[in-house]
Parts: sequence; C-alpha cells; structure tokens
Amino acid sequence: MSGLPVETNLIIAFSGRKHGNMSLYYGEASEALNNRMIFLSRLGIDYRDLVCARQVHGDSIRYVTEADKGSGAGSYGGSIADTDGFITDRKNIPIAVFTADCLSLFIYDPDKPAIGLVHCGWRSSKSRIASKAVRLMQEKLNTAPQNLYAGFGSSIRGCCYQVSENFKEYFSEGLSKKEGNLYLDLAEVNTKELLATGVKKENIFPPQACTFCHNDEFFSFRKEGNSCGRMISVMMLK
Ligand SMILES: [Zn+2]
Repeated sequence: MSGLPVETNLIIAFSGRKHGNMSLYYGEASEALNNRMIFLSRLGIDYRDLVCARQVHGDSIRYVTEADKGSGAGSYGGSIADTDGFITDRKNIPIAVFTADCLSLFIYDPDKPAIGLVHCGWRSSKSRIASKAVRLMQEKLNTAPQNLYAGFGSSIRGCCYQVSENFKEYFSEGLSKKEGNLYLDLAEVNTKELLATGVKKENIFPPQACTFCHNDEFFSFRKEGNSCGRMISVMMLK
C-alpha cells in the first residue's frame, strides 16, 4: 500500500514464500507457529495475540474486540468460526487472514482510526464481502467510505486465474477471454465493489504481483495443489 499517508499507528504486512507456511491448518503446526513468531516479532506483534478465522469462503465479517485477542493464535481449533473478515477500532489487536492465490483486502480508516481485513476468494467476492465489510465499518464505527484506503495482498490475477464459463453468471466485472478461455481478476471485481460503496479510486491500491506468475516468491494453490503453504496478511492499530 505504497502511497498511503505516513502513519505511525498502523502495522500492515503480507508474507511471502521465504517466510514459510503461516497456517496451522495446512502443514506442520509447530513450524507455522515458529514462522509466525519470526515474521510478526519483526513488526512488533506478539504472535500469541493474533486473531485468526476458520475461513469458509463465506461473507461473515466480525467486529473484533479485546475478548477475541489470541483466537487461533496457538491452535487452528481456537480460530473464530465461519468468518472471512475482521474489522476493529481497538489498538494492539493484530487481525490476520491466510491466503495462497485468494485475495486479501486491507481497509484503513485513518480518521477513527479503524481497520478491516478480508479474505476474498471468488465465492466471498460473489457474495460481495468487500461492501459488507465497509458497511459494517459504517454501522459499528461510523466510518465514512470516502475516507477509506484499500489495498490488496498478492493474489492470482486475470493473467492466470482460468475459470469456467458459468462465472459469467456470477460476475459482470473482472472477466477476460484469452484463447477461448475465461479468466477472472478478483482484485478488479473487488475494486469495483469498493468504488460502489464510495471509496475513492485514488485510495485503492492494486496487488503487487500475481502469485501464480511469481510462484518463486509466493505460494500458489493453483500451481502447487493441496500441499501448498499459506501466506499471512496482518494488520494492527498501535
Ligand atoms: Zn499471473
């Protein structure tokens, strides 16, 4: 999210392949915990405070408070159930989502201040999870969408994300044709979604890279299959 106003009260980060698998659901849990500890301590975050979700490709967003601190930090079972996004205005509560090709959406309201972090796969995007997150920030935190900044983690892009023809029924944006095949760009879908809620175009920052094109730097589920690690997207107000 380069281009953001310089802020000292916001921590925002996205891990890469070199930081290792961050998920306690896939792979070796003790190794993932160690990876989290190393990656997060450099950011000034205690990995034991992390708030994680049992992501289900749904459209539920949770307003996180101190009571949720540490949910899913030590075990996958402790993660908050049936949730694909978090919002909060509380300080020192790190919220996280995990991806490998899926899109993570970072939302920042510098005025409150408040933050939101959303796991946007195609199912959640089809359910308009991005605008649900913005709406919840409006309801709970009195956020004005025109003040929001939004950025995306690296994800599989329209260059590589081939989908079936019936996706035309799900999405009116973000689709392109190449050699007779249909491709979807979730960042484009969610950018349009954010613009419709009132977020300003100049405040939305696209993903840095395609995870499939740059598989040497990022985990890609489509490229690697089930054994693939997961990257962490994390945000915290200080
Ligand atoms: Zn690509």
